[in-house]
Amino acid sequence: MDYSNKYSKLGKSLEPSLIGQILKYAGDPEAISFGGGIPDASTFPSEELAEISRELILENAGYVLQYSSTVGDIKLRKQILKLLYEFYGIEGLNEENVMITVGSQQALDLIGKVFLDEESYFVIDDPAYLGALSAFNTRFSKFITVPLLEDGIDTEYLEEKLREFEKTGEIQRVKFIYVVSNFHNPAGITFSLKKRKRILEIAEKYDLFIVEDDPYGALRYEGESIEPIFKLGGPERVILLNTFSKILCPGLRIGVITAQKEFIEKVSLAKENAVLCSSPLTQRLAAEYLERYDLLEKLKPTIELYRKKKDVMLKALEDEFSNLEGVRWTKPEGGLFIWLTLPDGFDTLEMTEIAKEKKVFYVPGQAFRPTGEISNSMRLSYCLPPEEKIVEGIKRLRETVEIYASKKSLTIA
Ligand SMILES: *Cc1c(COP(=O)(O)O)cnc(C)c1O
Repeated sequence: MDYSNKYSKLGKSLEPSLIGQILKYAGDPEAISFGGGIPDASTFPSEELAEISRELILENAGYVLQYSSTVGDIKLRKQILKLLYEFYGIEGLNEENVMITVGSQQALDLIGKVFLDEESYFVIDDPAYLGALSAFNTRFSKFITVPLLEDGIDTEYLEEKLREFEKTGEIQRVKFIYVVSNFHNPAGITFSLKKRKRILEIAEKYDLFIVEDDPYGALRYEGESIEPIFKLGGPERVILLNTFSKILCPGLRIGVITAQKEFIEKVSLAKENAVLCSSPLTQRLAAEYLERYDLLEKLKPTIELYRKKKDVMLKALEDEFSNLEGVRWTKPEGGLFIWLTLPDGFDTLEMTEIAKEKKVFYVPGQAFRPTGEISNSMRLSYCLPPEEKIVEGIKRLRETVEIYASKKSLTIA
């Protein structure tokens, strides 16, 4: 049967991502990949989780193998409130402000479903987190793209756009501003306190809400942590998304929405339609882990591992690229990504053909652009390759850049 003539509008629009197509060849043992943004599996606390799972299944099967509440395991929500206090200093919330999702990805999907129609707009940065973009795009909404600068989104540009919407009487259609405030994926930058405050002011002025996605906040390698917008604006204005994917392990599929009670009630109805409930087994596993161990303490070796790899990559970039005119890169204080920008005229998607021959992989910036425009940037992740491969990979990348430049008669030296 040919299903294609039965597809819905959404079904027709679903296409494999650019990232998948490019990283198809990255599994070659000779290849060095800076492509995937997934955590290093050696950081997963497998012994601890194995022990807790055994206990839970043998002693509490009637709960952990049963259906569970949509909003999430109560023990886990209580542990999360503790963590929100310990990590961000967020106080004054209770369990009704917290909902568990199947990873943050489900939170993004549910927010799209509950708030976006075809005539709606959302505000997203350029470059943007692909998971958010693809979740929101299933609603066929419109978006306002705001350039990302070194200290966060360009708020002047955003205000100018919103003023236009106000003039034409369309401001009601703009629903929310989506931001990744710490160690941005893909750009590696962190929003300054000033930017955070400004974004909040803008949201208040134009009556929008903010979706603050912070999967990496606890993976800070250096510098001072900055208050989340959620703490500045409170649950009336800001929806905070967290996940265990980057700080414990992604396979548990546990994300967290922290928000106003009324918001949680509405979004949990959408979750019920989608999945009935999250797995009580993985939720309890996480809850017990948090009860028995100090997560922030346990994260220290992980932070050390990534910090070292990040420094190795920054040094390699300095060695290979500092004498090339117009090449720049971000210096992340945490998270998993560096954003490398080549001079105008480079097309990093087209350049993947050469990179493939050199057996080095990255994600071209175009993959992260809401509008899909060509890009002279790329995302480099340092979390997976061993240190010597990082150095070798950056060498290959430099060769790739030089070959591409000479093919295109671009000057870089
Ligand atoms: C990795 C990541 C997530 C996590 O998604 P999960 O579904 O929780 O695994 C969310 N947002 C951003 C910006 C990310 O980089």
